[in-house]
Amino acid sequence: MKLKNIFGLGTVVSAKKYDGFCGILITDVISGSPSDKGGLLRGDFLLSVNDTEIRDLLDYKFAAADESLEIVYRRGDKVCSATLRNNGNSDDIGLSFGDYLMDKTRRCQNRCIFCFIDRLPTGLRDTLYFKDDDDRLSFLQGNYVTLTNLSRRDIDRIISMRLSVNVSLHTVNPELRADMLGNKHGGEGIAILNELAKSGVTLNIQNVLCPEINDGEELERTLRELTALLGEPDCGVESVAFVPVGVTKHYNENGKVADMPENCKRVRIYKQSEATAVIDIIDKYGDSALDKYGSRTFYPSDEFFVLAERDIPIYEYYSPFFEQYENGVGMWRCFEYEFQSALLSAFDNGQNDNVKYKNVGLVTGESAAVLFRRMFDLFVVSDSVKIFAVRNDFFGNDINVAGLICGSDIVAQLVNQDLPDMLLIPESMLRNEGNGITRTTFLDDMTVDEVSTKLGRLISVLPVDGTGFFRAIAES
Ligand code: SF4
Repeated sequence: MKLKNIFGLGTVVSAKKYDGFCGILITDVISGSPSDKGGLLRGDFLLSVNDTEIRDLLDYKFAAADESLEIVYRRGDKVCSATLRNNGNSDDIGLSFGDYLMDKTRRCQNRCIFCFIDRLPTGLRDTLYFKDDDDRLSFLQGNYVTLTNLSRRDIDRIISMRLSVNVSLHTVNPELRADMLGNKHGGEGIAILNELAKSGVTLNIQNVLCPEINDGEELERTLRELTALLGEPDCGVESVAFVPVGVTKHYNENGKVADMPENCKRVRIYKQSEATAVIDIIDKYGDSALDKYGSRTFYPSDEFFVLAERDIPIYEYYSPFFEQYENGVGMWRCFEYEFQSALLSAFDNGQNDNVKYKNVGLVTGESAAVLFRRMFDLFVVSDSVKIFAVRNDFFGNDINVAGLICGSDIVAQLVNQDLPDMLLIPESMLRNEGNGITRTTFLDDMTVDEVSTKLGRLISVLPVDGTGFFRAIAES
């Protein structure tokens, strides 16, 4: 029920409907915006837009996409409404909020047998131990979610908003999924995945493969059922990646894993022959999806090719979309392609075959070092560019990706070596604090400056990008 407009607040409305709902704090109102003209102020609490209660950014974006907006807000003990007009874009209303999730990030309710966080050493920063499983972060930041903590409202909202979601699936066998996720509701996520896919929601799926647990026959079943799903009209599945499990040496040291399910003890890393078999199975279904639907869809990660000691596939295998690049699928092929293009441009610019390389050292993990050595051979990069492959003692020697190399290992293993004046490290080795600030700190809390001081060498941090890498090692 609307009451008369008093207090100069906009129209005062009945507060009863919003009993117990405090709303979302508005932290800024852009001057001259529809919200400003409608009388909203910083410090007001947004309650609803067009009768939809606003609990987070997705509610807000969805509801505020209409051209005519009935905004209800709380100011002090009054509940007021204002009618705004915009051009159908929530960004144009002129409101800002302190926290874009607007409520707590949803913590994961699983105890996955391969969970890397449960296998971290103790004593790291608290933020590294936080396990999120939030469909909103999937849409906003690309995080992967297991679909085990969604309400019916969440599912309907994903479908009606046509959000894109990144899903951690691992298997389509419900019992096995419950087992792998350490969550008796784990199997229910498979039905939700099917519902989302058939509703046209864009889905990118990842699967962590564990030897003798969800590969072999189970992997065939997963690929078979996902292939069938691809045949559904409007199927939203874009890509499906498979990454090998990583196992740290802290498996049994950490109090947090002491009460893990018994099957956790089965988790081990891949042998070369097993990695080869995994690639062959995935490629069989990938070839068939390419024939049938025009898209390969199913991809082993780059790490599988390194484990199998096989060449990374050609650029066309992943192109044009490289959908799971961020998941380490096609990342190396893209890097090498960029490097080659930069090298060819240097030739075009008159350097002919006389590209001169600097005396620099590349610091990387053992996996990437193999790929860099092959690339240097292929493009005849001079040995003035040295490769320093750092063994991972911090997490354990079975972890060999560059992104998990810590400062303490770099110092311990390089301090007595004959080093060039300048060392290059990939940005992926440094922690992403998620605040847009340049990365400066390794996972073990050592900073780039500390490592540089201890080694007595300059360190340059490079984005993971072949063009930038070429420019960093070639004389201009
Ligand atoms: S979903 Fe599984 S792997 Fe991810 S944080 Fe939770 S327990 Fe760990």
